[in-house]
Amino acid sequence: MVDNAQVFRSLNERIAERELRRLEIVCECVEEACTELVPITPVEFYEVRRHNGWYVVRPGHQRLERVIVAQPAFLVVEKVAA
Ligand SMILES: [Zn+2]
Repeated sequence: MVDNAQVFRSLNERIAERELRRLEIVCECVEEACTELVPITPVEFYEVRRHNGWYVVRPGHQRLERVIVAQPAFLVVEKVAA
C-alpha cells in the first residue's frame, strides 16, 4: 500500500525545487534593442505579473519608472503614465 503523505511529500519537494530554479527572461526596459537576460525565479516573475504596469528590468535599465523592488539581479519597476 502506498503512503499518500510520502508520495505528496516528495512530489511537493520536486515542485518546490522547480519553483526555485531561476528563469532567464528578457529585460523589459524601454530600450527597444535591449535583449539582455534577467535571472528571476518563477515565483518572483508571477508576483510581478499580478500587477498591471510592473516590469522586470536589469539594474540600471530603469528610466523614468518608479522602482518597486531592487534586487542585485533585477529591478521591478512601475511604468509611469506618459
Ligand atoms: Zn534593458
